[in-house]
Amino acid sequence: RRNILLILGDQLDHDSAAFDGFDPALDSVLMVESFEESTHVWSHKVRSALFLSAMRHFAESLKSRGWPVEYRSLDVEGDKTLGQGLQQAIDKHQPQRIIGVEPGDLRVRAQIEQTVKDSGAKITLEWREDRHFLCSLPHFNQWAGQSASLRMEFFYRRMRKQYRVLMEDCGEKPLGGKFNFDAENRKGFGRKGPQQLPVPLVFESDSITQDVLALVEEKFTKHPGDLARFNWPVTREQALTALDDFIAHRLPLFGLHQDAMWTGMDFGWHALLSSSLNLKLLNPLEVVMAAQNAYRERDLDLASVEGFIRQVLGWREFMRGVYFLDMPELKKANHFGHTNALPKWYWTGETKMNCMRQSLKQTLANGYSHHIQRLMITGMFGVTAQIEPQQLCDWYLAVYVDAVEWVELPNTAGMALFANGGRFTSKPYVASGAYVKRMSNYCDGCAYSPEARLGPDACPITTLYWNFLDRHEEDMSSNPRTALMIKNLQRMTDQDRLALRKQAAEMLSDLDVL
Ligand code: FAD
Ligand code: SF4
Repeated sequence: RRNILLILGDQLDHDSAAFDGFDPALDSVLMVESFEESTHVWSHKVRSALFLSAMRHFAESLKSRGWPVEYRSLDVEGDKTLGQGLQQAIDKHQPQRIIGVEPGDLRVRAQIEQTVKDSGAKITLEWREDRHFLCSLPHFNQWAGQSASLRMEFFYRRMRKQYRVLMEDCGEKPLGGKFNFDAENRKGFGRKGPQQLPVPLVFESDSITQDVLALVEEKFTKHPGDLARFNWPVTREQALTALDDFIAHRLPLFGLHQDAMWTGMDFGWHALLSSSLNLKLLNPLEVVMAAQNAYRERDLDLASVEGFIRQVLGWREFMRGVYFLDMPELKKANHFGHTNALPKWYWTGETKMNCMRQSLKQTLANGYSHHIQRLMITGMFGVTAQIEPQQLCDWYLAVYVDAVEWVELPNTAGMALFANGGRFTSKPYVASGAYVKRMSNYCDGCAYSPEARLGPDACPITTLYWNFLDRHEEDMSSNPRTALMIKNLQRMTDQDRLALRKQAAEMLSDLDVL
């Protein structure tokens, strides 16, 4: 063979640059399922099943074009690592070149490069740009320059102008007079709770998916999660149906309750498109344009449409840029020097804290929880409970269907845990139980009391929040975004402060019992 095109599990894109110049008479496609991709972090069964099923469907679609595809599966070849599968293919085909699209995980890239180097054969490895993304890495780096602090908002405005999305006056002015309507998108449900929740689509499992579910159950029996409710798009056709469904039924109210949480509400009005986008079954521009067209044709609420477009055109592209700009330091970052171990109940949901219990159980059932549950429940606890960032990052990488390092790491280490010292966030995301009470009904069913920071029913979210302010009083009092929090802290008597420290120390000494 002249060229082997290595297609990774999250590169299921028919328009990929890897296929440029592909000649089925001379070249072949290689796809490798490897144990390591499900075990280097303790991958959720649903996450593994999604990747494997989507890969197998993609391989079938290439084969149906008559293209030569070598597909190495876990049940037949059983490669331990991607490198091992690649080495086998090199030995078999003796290609001149290995062609691939830049991986979204630098660990994978290093492994492929090492394998080619160690193969002893005279092979060229050619990385091609991932043109799925709307901002190339050189463009992002040029925008970021040498700035110590990066702000997504400015990047987003640039992207809106560049792609002329939600703009008027020949692309000069944002529709509605401002770029960002976030302030209108933070409503809770009040005491009554959500009325008439939208029902997500159901994707029937075909024989490929059923085989994969059985395989994952067999090979990864002890892994976290539950396959009973597996319901994620595994083909481009299904991903397009999921996109249509979101645009038709959930986009109109997407913004209003974007941050709200409620017991039993697993998905709300969220898009459920992150896994399809990250597997590259969907292109971000088609997603953004579908939302913009719906706004124009159906006169939708601008705050909802802008809120959604900001996530895809802004945050998603920004996070990718940050990952490649700040690696490998980002992976080791630990601004606060936190060293606590991840509580065991992150893997089971068995904790008395109802907010954590609900968010974790939901994650274990679906491989999904929405942004605010990730940021302000499971993530925020990581900051105030002083959990070592790398342990929590590995957990996030393991449990979510949309988790690939380029997007997981900046969100976890950078946004949720402030491990990079606020490179792109102006303050740590911390709040007391009062916030959880306002944005959800979780506190109603909890063993703790959200207002109490001391005593037997003290809410760990609240106690650890005040303890965090106490520990970082000096830094946070000089930050205009957190100065008010510190003013409130300073109203406490010295005696209360001592009691707070004692209570927090007790909680921190054994997080597993909370
Ligand atoms: P919606 O909330 O409906 O948003 C629409 C789309 O916007 C998403 O599909 C996604 O593609 C994009 N998006 C929204 N927020 C972000 C963001 N902060 N960064 C990048 N893209 C965004 N997202 C991932 O795709 N993979 C991850 O591994 C991941 N890990 C996260 C870890 C933490 C600690 C936090 C706080 C956030 C993380 N996110 C991650 C971002 C976000 O939570 C998910 O993209 C979102 O919840 C996916 O659900 P959805 O498709 O219903 O998204
Ligand atoms: Fe979470 Fe505290 Fe509310 Fe319980 S009382 S649900 S621990 S915020």
